[in-house]
Amino acid sequence: MPTHSSVYAVSGASVSSRAERSPGRPATEHDAPGAHSPFSLAIHGGAGALSPSRLNGQLEAAYRAGLAAALTAGYRLLVAGGSAVDAVTQAVVVLEDNPLFNAGRGAVFTSAGEVQLDAAVMNGLDRCAGAVAAVVGPRNPVLAARAVLELSDAVLLVGEGALSFCRAHGIALEDPRYFYTEQRWEALQRELHRRRHGGRDDRDDADRHGTVGAVARDVRGNLAAATSTGGITAKAPGRVGDTPVFGAGTWAENGTCAVSATGTGEVFIRLGAAHEIAARMRIGGQPLAQAAADVVAELQVAGGDGGLIAVDAAGAVVMPFNCQGMYRGQIGADGVPRAAIYREQLTVVNGA
Ligand code: ASP
Repeated sequence: MPTHSSVYAVSGASVSSRAERSPGRPATEHDAPGAHSPFSLAIHGGAGALSPSRLNGQLEAAYRAGLAAALTAGYRLLVAGGSAVDAVTQAVVVLEDNPLFNAGRGAVFTSAGEVQLDAAVMNGLDRCAGAVAAVVGPRNPVLAARAVLELSDAVLLVGEGALSFCRAHGIALEDPRYFYTEQRWEALQRELHRRRHGGRDDRDDADRHGTVGAVARDVRGNLAAATSTGGITAKAPGRVGDTPVFGAGTWAENGTCAVSATGTGEVFIRLGAAHEIAARMRIGGQPLAQAAADVVAELQVAGGDGGLIAVDAAGAVVMPFNCQGMYRGQIGADGVPRAAIYREQLTVVNGA
C-alpha cells in the first residue's frame, strides 16, 4: 500500500532544528563545492551536450540559466527543511518546463513523430518508488511518477494505463503541440533521412538524446533521486530507456547513495548501473567517487556513452561522464548555484 498521504506539494515544508552535520571526510577532486553541507542538491540536463562549435555564448548562457533556475528551486525547499524527494521533484519540474532540455517540453520525437516520455522518482528513506514510461501527454512526467509513488500500489505504469492514472489524479495533460520544438523536429527529420539513405551516424550528442535529473540529501540525511526524459531521437515507438527502470537510470537508498543517469539507456539497463554503484558501496565498502567512476568506465567498455550524478549519505556529490559533455550543476547550504557543461570545473552561475 502507498505509504504517503498526499501528492507532492511544495507548501508546508517546516524548518528542521535537527540539521545533521556530515561526518568529516577528505575532499576529493570529485567533490563539487558545497559538499559536506547539511544538505546538497545536484542536477543534470543530460549527456546530450551540444558540441562546443554549436554552443554560442547566448545559448550557453541560456543553458546555464536553466540549470541555475532548477538548482535554486530545489534549494528553496531544502533550506526551509523540505525533503530530498520534494527537492528533486521540483528541480526536475523546472528542467522539464525548459524547452532546451530533452524532457517534458522540448523532448525528442519517436520515429513516428510522437513524444513518448519516461520519468521516475525514488525516495531513499523507504525506497518507495514511482515511474511512468512511454506516456504521451503529461506536462510534467515527473509529477506523474511522483503520483505513482504516492498514490499507486504499482511502481511503474506505462502507456494508456498511465494516462488514465494521470487523468484520475489531476496530473496536467498537454496537447502534442505543447511538446513541439523546431530543433527536435529537425533532428528527427535528419535522422529519418539518414536511415532512408544509409548514411553514417555522425550526429552530435545533442541530436541523439538527453535527459534531466536530480539527486539530493536533505537536512535529515534522507536521499532521493528523480529522472525524466524524452529518450533517444527517432526511438522506436514503445521503446523505454533506463530512466524509469529502477536500478538502471534512477536509484535512491539512504546509507549509500542516490543516482540519476543519462546516456545510452540500453547499456545502463544491462549493467544495472545505478544500483551497481549503491551495491559497490554497501557490499564492497567503496566510496561513492570510486564506485561511480568505475561504473561509468564499465559502461563505456560495454558501448554506453553518458554519465550520472550521485550524492552520498554525507552529501558529497560526484558527476562522472564518459562523453564530451554533460549539463550539470550543484548547490549546497551556501545557496550559490554552480554549473558546468564540458570537462571544466563547476563555476558560479547567476540564480534565477
Ligand atoms: N538515458 C536516456 C534514454 O536512454 C537518454 C539520455 O539520457 O540521453 O532514454
